[in-house]
Amino acid sequence: MHNVVILGSGCAGNTAAIYTARANLKPLVITGHEPGGQLSITSLVENFPGFPEGVDGPELVERMKQQAQHFGAEYRDGSAQVADLSKRPFRLSVEGEWIETRTLIVATGASARWLGLESEQKLIGKGVSSCATCDGFFFRDKNIMVVGGGDSAMEESLFLTRFGREVTLVHRRDQFRASKIMLDRAMAHPKLKMVTNSVIDEVYDVSKGEVSGVRLRNLVTGEAHDQAVDGLFIAIGHIPNTKPFAGQLDLDPDGYILSKGGARTNITGVFHAGDVQDRTYRQAITASGAGCMAAMEAEKFLEHEGH
Ligand code: NAP
Repeated sequence: MHNVVILGSGCAGNTAAIYTARANLKPLVITGHEPGGQLSITSLVENFPGFPEGVDGPELVERMKQQAQHFGAEYRDGSAQVADLSKRPFRLSVEGEWIETRTLIVATGASARWLGLESEQKLIGKGVSSCATCDGFFFRDKNIMVVGGGDSAMEESLFLTRFGREVTLVHRRDQFRASKIMLDRAMAHPKLKMVTNSVIDEVYDVSKGEVSGVRLRNLVTGEAHDQAVDGLFIAIGHIPNTKPFAGQLDLDPDGYILSKGGARTNITGVFHAGDVQDRTYRQAITASGAGCMAAMEAEKFLEHEGH
């Protein structure tokens, strides 16, 4: 029987692990299908306080893990496929093995939705990104392309105009999901060019290990051409990793956990941390802060229960 099981090993999960381990609760962290979370697929992180020269994303998250292990946190590879939160102790099926816990911290994150091209996948962190706030800075005076037609795509494109020489927004239709105000702002921006009814068929250049261009195809005319770009930002939404909790935890229509204040969910003893509940900020530092909150609430809960 565990005191605390933490699902997810990104900034939120690792920070929750550091805090609960230091509270002597011997947390068990189930790393999830993307160990290290979103940071593990970024390169340099320059906005995490305490690193004036920046820090490599995978290194930062690995150091958080080591810090948690140093205080006694246990890490186990795998994901929770099934969760029974109907009564305490909670039960989780992790790679076929059932584990029981008094409290649960859900820090499973939200995975960026990708186009799914092989070349795109190979160039993630090498010019392909899902986070303008994280990586925009690296594309000063460069040609940037953004994919998507929702508010995220508008917001990221507008943000990227601060850095890029030119920003091209590619959308697969000519109707946008984005709110009118965001769309109008994007359309009016002199550095921002819209390409509609178009998709990316290929990202170049995998052999060089960097983005040098894309192959664009117009879905109406069928015509395709190559365009040189230095950075490609995919802003086609995120998918919160809440499948095992559907019907148990209160979720919003897109599957994000609905908070009951602080780090609390609708189930007593189950806490949320990070992007699985946060569709707004999604930063390493905010996820870490949320992990701290969840840990402190779990600790208080266990103390109250006499453990
Ligand atoms: P979204 O509204 O679901 O939009 C996703 C966009 O990506 C859609 O335009 C969609 O095209 C496109 N897309 C999806 N899969 C694609 C694929 N495989 N290839 C090419 N294009 C693809 O997602 P979001 O923009 O991340 O926004 C999510 C929510 O957060 C929304 O409610 C949004 O209003 C909110 N948000 C608000 C703000 C703000 O107010 N400042 C900022 C960001 C997000 P189709 O339209 O053709 O389906």
